[in-house]
Amino acid sequence: MNACIVAVGSELLTPFRVDTNSLIITERLNTIGVDVRLKTVVGDDVDELARVLTSALGNADLVVCTGGLGPTEDDITRDAVARVLERPLELHETIVDSIRSRFAKRGLTMPEINRRQAMVPRGAAVLENVNGTAPGLWLEHGRTRVLLLPGPPREMTPILEAVVRDRLAPATAGAGLFRRVLRIAGRAESDIDSRAQPVYGQWTSRPIPISTTILAVLGQIELHLTAAAPNRAVADEALDAAMAELQEVLGSSIYSTDGRQLEAVVGDLLRGAGWTIAAAESCTGGLLTSRLTDVPGSSDYVAASVVCYSNATKVDWLNIPEALIAEHGAVSEPVGRAMAEGIRARAGTNVGLGVTGIAGPGGGTPEKPVGTVVVAVVTDRDTRVRTFQFFGSREQVKYQSAQAAMNMLRLMMTGRI
Ligand code: AMP
Ligand code: MG
Repeated sequence: MNACIVAVGSELLTPFRVDTNSLIITERLNTIGVDVRLKTVVGDDVDELARVLTSALGNADLVVCTGGLGPTEDDITRDAVARVLERPLELHETIVDSIRSRFAKRGLTMPEINRRQAMVPRGAAVLENVNGTAPGLWLEHGRTRVLLLPGPPREMTPILEAVVRDRLAPATAGAGLFRRVLRIAGRAESDIDSRAQPVYGQWTSRPIPISTTILAVLGQIELHLTAAAPNRAVADEALDAAMAELQEVLGSSIYSTDGRQLEAVVGDLLRGAGWTIAAAESCTGGLLTSRLTDVPGSSDYVAASVVCYSNATKVDWLNIPEALIAEHGAVSEPVGRAMAEGIRARAGTNVGLGVTGIAGPGGGTPEKPVGTVVVAVVTDRDTRVRTFQFFGSREQVKYQSAQAAMNMLRLMMTGRI
């Protein structure tokens, strides 16, 4: 089965809003083997949408529209569909009642314009919207199926999931595309690809073909594996084998194979060891601790952190000798190490992290160019200090610094360095 997605909304044609619904729709459709061939973004214009729908109906087995089901004049999806499919719009009193009761629950009276949301092209199935007033709609037109979904993602997603489960998946007998995401830190994309490509390059011709996409995101690389399989068990077996082959060539630079972010991986290691952590952050300005505390339950191991941006605070709060800074500079391995040791002693934790660097765009020198970052990790067991050279904007340098600090701790705690 192949699909075409139509995102409706004039706001999606401005520089301020982007169509994200089609990504969710594509992901869900792919999991049951439905191929998305075409996506269109169209404004709130009934003629334009009618044209787009006419062309989509001639080319796809499934047309999914999102947006334009609101109660106002500019919400024209129902009208365009009714026109193109030549089905009159009928008022469903049961929908009016359910919209009215949604309003009543909040002590409000339903505005008359909401009756528009109860207009249904003849023969359409009404799909309950648990998070809003506009129901979704399902139509069959010859061999083409048409699904209309509301625009707000939290309203759209549950309806989409129900349709995939109850109406689309049964037609595909469990076959579909099954994905895994593998995340890697601390290596260059070219380096990863030169090792991984000879491995994953052979997977596409296997009985259960696996296609691989490599995505370099800031400070990390993701490998997305997609298996086309008759069911999940078969896909899992093929993907497990593929993963093992990649582990062989990429080794410890893989930090997650189950979708977890680095901060969550590090958090689990800390919790497992019963260790606490504290950070002394200079160039990251608190980003490192912010990310560590993005993980629910991180109070189990995050004890404290300081942002010691100025030299004076490094001296006052962490007992770093002024002479050390004078001799080596604030961005230096001895100072990074003293920061990690200082915060660890001050907070009484098992782990101390120190990060000091030049985020730019100013402040670089020939010896220490912008992007020079020292990361120090001191634990109950050992100490590692490394100088990194990052590239990119100030924000990107900060992010990569936090990433490098967490990755160093991960490698130390798992005995890889
Ligand atoms: P609508 O159903 O057209 O009234 O859409 C209501 C709201 O849903 C819009 O203001 C957007 O914020 C959001 N929305 C609509 N379409 C999309 C889309 N394709 N991707 C993400 N958000 C959307
Ligand atoms: Mg809209």
